[in-house]
Amino acid sequence: MLVVYDRLGRFLRWNRDFERTTGYSAAELGSMTRLDLVPEPERPAFHEKMERLLSVGGEDAFEGRIRLKSGELRPFFLTGRRVDLDEGGCIIGVGIDSSARIKAQEAMQAAEQRYRRLFASSIAGIAILAPDGRIQAVNPSLCKTFAETEEAMTGARFIDSFAAADADAIERLFARARAGEPGSGEWPLRRVVNGKVDLRLSATSIGNDEVMVVVRDVTEHNAQQRKIARLERIRSMIGGIHSVMLRRTDRIPLLLEACRVAVYDGGFVFALAVDLDPVAGTPNMLAAEGTLEGGGRVIESLLQSTESPDAFSWSLLREGRPIIVNSMRSAAASERARGRLNEIGIRSGAAFPLRVDGQTNCVLILMSPEPHAFDDDEIELLTWMVDDLSYALEHLHTARRLERLTNFDPLTGLMNAGAFRKRLADLSVVAGERRWRISIGVIDLKGFSELNRQMGYAMGDHLLSAVADRLRTAMGEDSLVGRSGGDKFAVARLAATEAELDAFEDMVLAVFAQPFDVAGQSIALDAELGVARYPEQGGRYDIPIGLDHADAAVLLAKESGKRSVLYSSAATALRSRRTAMEAELRSALDHDEFTLVYQPKVDVVKGKMVGAEALLRWQHPERGLLSPAEFIEVAERSWLIVPIGAWVIRQVCAQQAAWRAQGLPIQPVAANVSAAQLGRGDLLGVVVEALRENALEPKWLELEITESAVMQDVAAATTTLRALRDFGISLALDDFGTGYSSLSQLKCLPFSRVKIDRSFVTEITTSVEDAAIAQAIIGIARSLGLTSVAEGVETAAQLNYLVQHQCDEIQGFYFSPPVDADKYAGYLRQDHKLALVRAQDDAQRRILVVDDEPSICKSLSRLLREEGYSVLIAHSGEQALESLAMQRVHVIISDQRMPGMSGTELLDKVKSLYPDVVRIILSGYTDIHVITDAVNRGSVFRFLTKPWDDDELLAVVRGAFVAARQAGAGESS
Ligand code: C2E
Ligand code: CA
Ligand code: CA
Repeated sequence: MLVVYDRLGRFLRWNRDFERTTGYSAAELGSMTRLDLVPEPERPAFHEKMERLLSVGGEDAFEGRIRLKSGELRPFFLTGRRVDLDEGGCIIGVGIDSSARIKAQEAMQAAEQRYRRLFASSIAGIAILAPDGRIQAVNPSLCKTFAETEEAMTGARFIDSFAAADADAIERLFARARAGEPGSGEWPLRRVVNGKVDLRLSATSIGNDEVMVVVRDVTEHNAQQRKIARLERIRSMIGGIHSVMLRRTDRIPLLLEACRVAVYDGGFVFALAVDLDPVAGTPNMLAAEGTLEGGGRVIESLLQSTESPDAFSWSLLREGRPIIVNSMRSAAASERARGRLNEIGIRSGAAFPLRVDGQTNCVLILMSPEPHAFDDDEIELLTWMVDDLSYALEHLHTARRLERLTNFDPLTGLMNAGAFRKRLADLSVVAGERRWRISIGVIDLKGFSELNRQMGYAMGDHLLSAVADRLRTAMGEDSLVGRSGGDKFAVARLAATEAELDAFEDMVLAVFAQPFDVAGQSIALDAELGVARYPEQGGRYDIPIGLDHADAAVLLAKESGKRSVLYSSAATALRSRRTAMEAELRSALDHDEFTLVYQPKVDVVKGKMVGAEALLRWQHPERGLLSPAEFIEVAERSWLIVPIGAWVIRQVCAQQAAWRAQGLPIQPVAANVSAAQLGRGDLLGVVVEALRENALEPKWLELEITESAVMQDVAAATTTLRALRDFGISLALDDFGTGYSSLSQLKCLPFSRVKIDRSFVTEITTSVEDAAIAQAIIGIARSLGLTSVAEGVETAAQLNYLVQHQCDEIQGFYFSPPVDADKYAGYLRQDHKLALVRAQDDAQRRILVVDDEPSICKSLSRLLREEGYSVLIAHSGEQALESLAMQRVHVIISDQRMPGMSGTELLDKVKSLYPDVVRIILSGYTDIHVITDAVNRGSVFRFLTKPWDDDELLAVVRGAFVAARQAGAGESS
């Protein structure tokens, strides 16, 4: 709008816009002055400006408001210029409506405020950097992250907050951002305020060479990531420990490898195992591994320094409680110790007790370079690992015992027959390599059974030990000596020449030239010797059957009355007998004289049948039905087992197909496979063909292979077994526990089932040893993810025990003997089930009898069994405790006088270990005061005197069971 007014302010001229804007008509405007349009408060300033403009001239601007006719005040930006017209000085004013601009300005201010608020309250830290890298503006969040005030940060160089090493990279990031290439990266803040802070910086140009840096604190996020990685590492460590468990049978190597796994798989910087010296209270380092320079020395010296009696809370560990130290500041160690750990870079640590038999055996200590490395998740995983390791430690003990038990004869300490055979097989490999021969002798003690009967068994045992000792000494280191049976010993030696072989055989007999000294008695004893030389003259280095030949020779020696018989002279007779049987076997195959019987296997949890084992029978034309024991050996030696075994596999498949055709719900059936089939027969080919012929899927056929068959040639067996497994046949390891050596290899073999040999099952409820072995096997199977199957289960007690110890499946007369095909089909049809023993019934009546006198144990046990109790026997306090540890017992009845632990000592222990077990003592009168003391202590429930009265004893026992039931009820309510 345009307007001209004179020095008195009267409007002279104006344009239409002026009228439209102000709302006044031309007539009205003609009688108004400029001041009429200016609101009162602004008038003096406006007037002054105009006067000055009129006198000075030129141009000036005024920002103010105009009162429109409507009364509205509208902002205007007015520019005035003096012009000299006829009437003198006038002013031309140009007004621009500035309301839009003001509005825009206000909007901008609001926006700016909004951005300011955003900047101020943003969770992300933001800094605006000047071109020289100094901080121009910084928001509170960044101040908080840097733990600095806004004043201190503004003007400072941003990168000064980072370590010099990172500064270059950060500079480059900013330079790129300035050049219009935004980017980001992660660096830790130099200053450690509350622990390390990791920052993620993103830089963007905001024009004018200024850079905006957005800073995110990723410490937590990174910690999470590290934690996930750490958990992953601990998981792989658990895997590592499992394989260590199987490889190591000694404590220190086991612990050492566990430490290695912890460091190299688990990512800990230091791992060590220590045990606690019970006397000095200081720990001994047993094993250690670490990646810290000089860390071992520091830790060793810390462990040795006895600055305070319980510097590392050993007492807690002793009680079985782990110690977790997530921050060194909270460690229960001295200032100095903490300082030194900190120096070598350890920020957190944990100590886990490894418990064996309820006591701390040693302590595993893990150290981490990160603070707070042990939270609940990690501790849970580590606890698993520690439990496994404890199990391994505990198992070492059983494993070694198992090894001794299965490989050595407990009486003489010599190898048993199985171990001898194994060593002989090793020796024959050496013989083959050197082209030497082995002399194998079997020694039979002449008239020993007679002597045994006359002198008593104890003396007999002494005599056997004396013979063993003398053989051991005479044969020396380079011979094998073993006990191959009751009164039979076996010896073997490798020799280069025939003369040496002769000398060895003479030496064996010379052992018996002098009488033996047994308990002060001199006993003359002679022996018969059967000798076989391997290989036979001109024979091949093949399967060493020398021991069997020597066995046969000794038989001949006995029959012929000769002192020594070399196998070759007996060969003809023996061979003819063998060939006769072989011929019969061969024709048996042709004449269809073989049949199969089927013995079901049951899942003990579900009580359902899960399959069957096919067992071979020979319907002999003259001798009737023969079981494998009578012919398998000959079949194996003559390799006839290969075609017979193939027949079994084909028969199983044909039978399965037939059952299926009858609409029966078939289950997998296992065929037994012998070593020869693995080695010579084309087992895979036979299996594939048999399945194909009967249109049967592989899952319906299983194979059972004995441990010893696998061990004959592990490499070859592994290849065959893998191929079978890959084809879909599941495999069971048969007779497990009888050849312990393959335990370590078991892991690498593709078995899915382990069959616990019947010999461990028969006495499982009474023999501490057998129970331990069975438990160990179940445990090992479990840890390898294999199903355990107990063979030969005949009683409810055996079943119950196995169920309680988590055996998966059973097979045995208790459920069913082997039955013919028709009867088995009936089982399938009716879904024959196992009546699961109710653990309670049997368990409610279990009594443990402890006496060092076997005859007393025997008569007590008979008496109690007749009453329907389930009786366990122990011959010493120690044995009793072991037995209690393995099964729930309700009443214990113990003799007082026993070597080692006395009855009252035992019952004192039982009282504290198993308070619910009702305790009875059986003793002579002379011990009466010792026993009254025990009664007063509460260790003894009743006492009975020897000799006892059966009825009285039974009455007391009955009372004890009533008390036991009450204790049990109290416990469960
Ligand atoms: P195995 O594989 O250990 O078979 C289990 C044996 O234990 C069977 O004897 C079975 O009848 C018997 N048994 C099952 N439950 C009980 C029980 O509760 N108590 C008792 N005392 N014995 C029980 P069997 O049938 O005489 O077979 C003996 C061995 O002959 C088998 O031992 C196996 O090694 C071998 N065998 C059987 N059939 C074949 C076959 O087809 N091929 C090969 N290579 N070997 C076979
Ligand atoms: Ca079997
Ligand atoms: Ca078996």
